[in-house]
Amino acid sequence: MDKLPICDANYVALTPLTFLKRAAAVYSDRASVVYRNVRFTWGETYERCCRLASSLISLNIVNNDVVSVLAPNIPALYEMHFSVPMAGAVLNAINTRLDAKTIATILKHSEAKIFFIDYEFVQVGRDALKLLMASLQPAEVASMPLVVVIDDIDSPTGIRFGELEYEALVSQGNPKFVPEEIAEELSPIALNYTSGTTSSPKGVVYSHRGAYLSTLSLILGWGMQTEPVYMWSLPMFHCNGWTFTWGVAARGGTNVCIRSTTAAEMYGAISAHGVTHMCCAPIVFNILLDAEPRRLSAPVEILTGGAPPPPALLERIESLGFHVVHAYGLTEATGPALVCEWQKKWDPLSGEEKAALKARQGVSILTLADVEVKDPTTMKSVARDGKAMGEIVLRGSSIMKGYLKDEKATSAAFRNGWFFTGDVGVIHTDGYVEIKDRSKDVIISGGENISSVEVEGALYKHNDVVEAAVVAMPHPKWGESPCAFVKLRDSAAVKEAEIIQHCRNNLPHFMVPKAVQFMDELPKTTTGKIQKFQLRAMAKTIPAQ
Ligand code: ADP
Repeated sequence: MDKLPICDANYVALTPLTFLKRAAAVYSDRASVVYRNVRFTWGETYERCCRLASSLISLNIVNNDVVSVLAPNIPALYEMHFSVPMAGAVLNAINTRLDAKTIATILKHSEAKIFFIDYEFVQVGRDALKLLMASLQPAEVASMPLVVVIDDIDSPTGIRFGELEYEALVSQGNPKFVPEEIAEELSPIALNYTSGTTSSPKGVVYSHRGAYLSTLSLILGWGMQTEPVYMWSLPMFHCNGWTFTWGVAARGGTNVCIRSTTAAEMYGAISAHGVTHMCCAPIVFNILLDAEPRRLSAPVEILTGGAPPPPALLERIESLGFHVVHAYGLTEATGPALVCEWQKKWDPLSGEEKAALKARQGVSILTLADVEVKDPTTMKSVARDGKAMGEIVLRGSSIMKGYLKDEKATSAAFRNGWFFTGDVGVIHTDGYVEIKDRSKDVIISGGENISSVEVEGALYKHNDVVEAAVVAMPHPKWGESPCAFVKLRDSAAVKEAEIIQHCRNNLPHFMVPKAVQFMDELPKTTTGKIQKFQLRAMAKTIPAQ
């Protein structure tokens, strides 16, 4: 056959911004965003985004400028996922749990042109701006970001800080604004900073194309039908809410915004709005389980990830009527990169067997080109036997473009086109990947690798264990041995010997913790991950048994 002519006129850049335009056309009257007594339709959300985008342009925002925002899951933050890139700019949603110093570092590193601050975070925002100002040379002072406060849209507080206010910018904007088409799909749409569990935060740049493809993959991987009612229990600042900011628009769904993930807010929203879908880290299961466990009147789909969900916890949460799908990802992968795709042949298995399969991190989402588990020194793939450990490596469109202004870290993260995750895992005969640890967290005892995740899984089988983390402690004979840190249910009076005996009943002998420390709270990062480096330092001071 003759070579086909290529018609460039057909080229349209892939961008998740098209999802909003389509939702406004197809689901114009359907509720798009609800928050307390505020309710918008997709038609209104589209218009509000057009207005804000035009206001940003009139504030001299130009292509690829960074617009930062510090806000919980409120309508404004949802809208900014569209309006900021509609103005050609790059959205930088900052983790609200960060301290002023880290926020100042992010504002400086990203060269933010505008900084939107929710009224609840005015104090930390003000402190961050002071630190930023102090770090600038006199000639740089003009580069300070313009400040916009976001007052509560349901019950305005009147709190003002900085030059402008969000709702005023929306109402001043042009409702008929027509955003320029995205010319280049690899241009940046968002900038997200890693949480810094294992190193200092790095700025991860996402493209329109990567965001678009990840969104579609996750909708498909999770099996999200049209018109879902999606509760924002996962912060939107975490990888843009694992792309569901754009995904809910793609499905013509309703965004239920809540300010915090207390049991009262979550169960309240579930019953008031008929929530069908939510995402969260496994740690949120404890909030749902602990408060006042209620059986749901209709099932709620949960996509969980961010940390390994212990099988025992999966079984418990599903017994309340939640249905869980497990995904694995990281900031550098635009959110989830693997999903534990359920297979019908597993339906007849027992609850325990199902939970064990579901706790595996899974297979690549559809638009990821590939996932492998490789020996990082030889670069060879390990055997697919569920036993041989290696580093999980990823390749494909949803992997980041690179770290902002950090070529060294970018080239260190990639080898031969593969992104090295720093997570240690195995690959089973059926191709499903299972994480055993972060490479820094593996415990090497007498030459054997012990997966802290497996030991934690056994601890969670104990009914009185609410949280557990296992790290290495020095041991004179074995080099290292496992040490467990445990938070117990409030009324529980369990002793170390009982926990050790429980582990003996559930684990091979060499994996059993040699010491158990009880804590009221385990130390956590701003994203709710247990800070194992702190526990490792504590474990060093415990005398070996
Ligand atoms: P940070 O690397 O700073 O913690 P991320 O939020 O990007 O920031 O965290 C990604 C890491 O979280 C992964 O590399 C992995 O160690 C862990 N993780 C994410 N999802 C899962 C999961 N489903 N199971 C086990 N670990 C997970």
